[in-house]
Amino acid sequence: MSKQIKGSCLCGTVQCEVHGPFARFYQCHCDRCQKKTGSAFASLIFTSPANINWLAGEDKIKRFDLPNAVRFSNVFCTECGSQVPYLSRDGSMLCIPAGFLDDDPEIVPQANIFWEEKFAWYDEGQAAPKYDQYPV
Ligand SMILES: [Zn+2]
Ligand SMILES: [Zn+2]
Repeated sequence: MSKQIKGSCLCGTVQCEVHGPFARFYQCHCDRCQKKTGSAFASLIFTSPANINWLAGEDKIKRFDLPNAVRFSNVFCTECGSQVPYLSRDGSMLCIPAGFLDDDPEIVPQANIFWEEKFAWYDEGQAAPKYDQYPV
């Protein structure tokens, strides 16, 4: 069995361990992921539903399945609002927000999807100067 990777939300209420093999790692630039993350794209790792072991806070998770969508869901900690791992709506996949993981999943993004919906400022954002802290 591959290595267990711990994950937790911002407040620490929701905690789990996941393990690979990870099937896919996508950066999704669709306008729904922009809304749900409040950011340029969602980083999602997909694996089989059996590859998770919940450690805490499963009862503090809220699931929102977007009514007019086939696949889209927003699943988050009710205490801090962080996105947490969830089962796809058809039950076939476990979707793990990469930022939820505390350790390196040892898989890198394989694709940028819904690329044509990316923000107009995306490229400039990537090219902007880098600082390790707030710039002075
Ligand atoms: Zn939380
Ligand atoms: Zn998306």
